[in-house]
Amino acid sequence: MAAQETVDHKYVYDFAEGNKDLKDLLGGKGANLAEMTNLGLPVPPGFTITTEACKAYLGTGEEPAGLAGQIEAHLEALEREMGRRLGDPDDPLLVSVRSGAKFSMPGMMETVLNVGLNDRSVIGLSAQAGRNDRFAWDSYRRLIQMFGKTVCDVPGEEFEHALDEAKRAKGSTDDLDLDADDLRGLVDAYKKIFAKHTGREFPQAPREQLDLAIRAVFESWNAERAVVYRRQERIPADLGTAVNVVAMVFGNLGPDSGTGVAFTRDPASGAQGIYGDYLANAQGEDVVAGIRNTVPLQELERIDKTSYDELLSYMARLEEHYRDLCDIEFTIERGKLWMLQTRVGKRTAAAAFVIAGQLVDEGLIDLDEALHRVNGAQLAQLMFPRFRLDHEFEPVAKGVGASPGAASGKAVFSSDRAVELAAQGESVILVRRETNPDDLNGMIAANGILTSRGGKTSHAAVVARGMGKTCVSGADALDVNVPQRRFTVGEHTVGEGDVISVDGTTGKVYLGEVPVMPSEVVQYFEGNLEPARSEDPLVRAVHRIMTHADQRRRLAVRTNADTAEDAARARRFGAQGIGLCRTEHMFLGDRRELVERLILARTDDEREQALAALLPLQRADFVEIFRAMDGLPVTVRLIDPPLHEFLPPLEQLAVNVAVAQERGEDVAKEEALLAAVRRMHEENPMLGLRGVRLGLVIPGLFAMQVRAIVEAAVTVVRDGGSALPEIMVPLVGAVQELETVRAEAEKIIAEVVGESGVEVLIGTMIEVPRAALTAGQIAEAAEFFSFGTNDLTQMGWGFSRDDVEAAFFWRYLELGIFGISPFESIDAEGVGRLVRIAAEEGRAARPGLKLGVCGEHGGDPDSVHFFHSVGLDYVSCSPFRVPVARLEAGRAVLEAAGSDSR
Ligand code: PEP
Ligand code: MG
Repeated sequence: MAAQETVDHKYVYDFAEGNKDLKDLLGGKGANLAEMTNLGLPVPPGFTITTEACKAYLGTGEEPAGLAGQIEAHLEALEREMGRRLGDPDDPLLVSVRSGAKFSMPGMMETVLNVGLNDRSVIGLSAQAGRNDRFAWDSYRRLIQMFGKTVCDVPGEEFEHALDEAKRAKGSTDDLDLDADDLRGLVDAYKKIFAKHTGREFPQAPREQLDLAIRAVFESWNAERAVVYRRQERIPADLGTAVNVVAMVFGNLGPDSGTGVAFTRDPASGAQGIYGDYLANAQGEDVVAGIRNTVPLQELERIDKTSYDELLSYMARLEEHYRDLCDIEFTIERGKLWMLQTRVGKRTAAAAFVIAGQLVDEGLIDLDEALHRVNGAQLAQLMFPRFRLDHEFEPVAKGVGASPGAASGKAVFSSDRAVELAAQGESVILVRRETNPDDLNGMIAANGILTSRGGKTSHAAVVARGMGKTCVSGADALDVNVPQRRFTVGEHTVGEGDVISVDGTTGKVYLGEVPVMPSEVVQYFEGNLEPARSEDPLVRAVHRIMTHADQRRRLAVRTNADTAEDAARARRFGAQGIGLCRTEHMFLGDRRELVERLILARTDDEREQALAALLPLQRADFVEIFRAMDGLPVTVRLIDPPLHEFLPPLEQLAVNVAVAQERGEDVAKEEALLAAVRRMHEENPMLGLRGVRLGLVIPGLFAMQVRAIVEAAVTVVRDGGSALPEIMVPLVGAVQELETVRAEAEKIIAEVVGESGVEVLIGTMIEVPRAALTAGQIAEAAEFFSFGTNDLTQMGWGFSRDDVEAAFFWRYLELGIFGISPFESIDAEGVGRLVRIAAEEGRAARPGLKLGVCGEHGGDPDSVHFFHSVGLDYVSCSPFRVPVARLEAGRAVLEAAGSDSR
């Protein structure tokens, strides 16, 4: 980049220059501060350093050219506006330096307050605050502490130790008992700690403090906890953070000052009302950290009615402006209200649906927008079971229902232990007095989170809600002893490993494992709740939005089901047919014997007998399934897995033979099985004798299945029902394979269908890359394609689907080779390209070719959007994901129409 361009690049924006749509550049906090400034709300003046400056700094390790000068110019403007100079000894301007990325990452990055204080300006601050020495020295010690810890990596405990020491000397446990002299002494102690760890004195030059703090915020983008959080929340790693430099206002100037957070609706349930916490005589960090006990926001009306009324009017204004739930941070400095932050607030899955429904009622948004604002992951959460609370289960404590859900597991008291036990497959509940950003890994690993302190806005609550994890916060009856790994409540003591249950909706805590029942939303999908008459606003909202999604979507949604029960349930959940009926499970259980006979058959006769015995059983299976899906298409896939999967494992057979021989028993059958297993052994069974290859090698196997399918369909139709069978051939790679199977099947179909009027389609899975690349040819012999994206991913990447996720995906995720397992969400660029090619070439060869997908991706939200964009006719997924796919298929239409840019 030419030097001139670099110099001219704009890296710093005054609040008055930005707006809410500039989140990429100014971060969420900066963009919204700008928006509030432009709305005329009382925002302390300041400026935002862009994410581009951060990215440039992180790329080179140096501030980009021109940045320092721009900061200087904006600082001067700020000083003029405030009538004070940064760190002026007599009347200092102080600033806060705050991170703010495009997506909110609560507590993951750094903030430094009170920048501009030094040995001289602390005196000026005291005078400014009406000779309030205590306040001035307290602010100074906070600066050294925060600056030391975040900018210079001084261990935080050292400062905490010194603070405890000062309190002990005073015979108190409360910071507020320390007077100005104590705090002056503490500043000296802090400076010594600072010098010991950094080898230099605490910097006195205000501008140097500012520059170093800005740098520390840039660098905190790559702090470990921020990296972990981004991975968890799927936030791209290359966005960088903006930095907001804001004139300080003080909530700790006395009883007529304070700080708080507020929501315009309940972020847990979506209910309308005033929700929030207030803490008198404190700085903002105290509230968010959940360290001191706050009072409900309503109390502010009593404490300072003018500020309360003003705040309420701003909240209403913001909600109307953003047309959404907003959360707000504010400070009152000696009776004057300042708005420090707002954003469209995080909310639980239930609240997302309820609020979207309410906003439609209020005329603030339309149904498309409501659909756009919820998502499949939230719906999936609402389908988790909840506790079945009979009388036997009495709660032992009640806290705040901070993030809903029903979670049981072993109590653990540290993040590391949570990670350790979860890795062993245990369900754990992380129990802490309060959480802090260092607990993030444990919170991710845990099934639920329980804290004894902090409200709905504490760290634990905010982070858990963001992750959709069950959380009860502020259960203050609990006495949590982390070093001894236990808590006591009443007469009970719960140690590490004891099972507890937490209900994130009611805030109740139970000992032991509470049984669960289906959620209201599942009961609604099951047809057990009448939405129009339901008292539950959630059920009404889900119904309304699902109905709209169904009207909007182009993709049909089918299900993967191979029993009549699954098929019936999926149908209640809205499935429009079966996209994949795997037939292999029908060969298990007591039918294994017949499969063994088939495999061991030495003559055509023996084989035919075994197949003839399987035929009526298969036919009965299909009759039930067709009946459950009466009138809807049912795709039945011919048998796919290698046949040795139906035989006992080699080691077990070898032992059986040896034991039987020892006892002198007849071992002929075991020996024959053992020989068969040895003969059929394959080094790479997923690439071996399976799918269509079985049909070509074992005479009569596919024929038996085709006959069973068609006879079942004819039976159902003769009984007055409607069966729409689609026979699907797995693992085809070349059209000749399909043609061979087709020729045989067509003969049987013609013979069996007779006068019944049953129509049978024959199609294939596209799950081998070669099939995708020769789809034009294959379409000549197929009436439909169904993409088997599990195998297509396996063979497209060369990843063994049964092994790789545990073996090395963690490293691929760490390196960012992909952001999510390609088995979970379709790899649009690679495997997705195969799908696209096959869809295009297949349709070119046979217009009207029916296209669907039946791999696991069919129920994954992002993949559903991809399949919509490719133009498939349907997705097929497991019954519980059917509603998710319906919702996302509706959202995909809006996304394609560009609604996402609203
Ligand atoms: C697939 O491969 O995507 C598929 C649906 O088949 P299976 O998972 O049974 O191999
Ligand atoms: Mg497959």
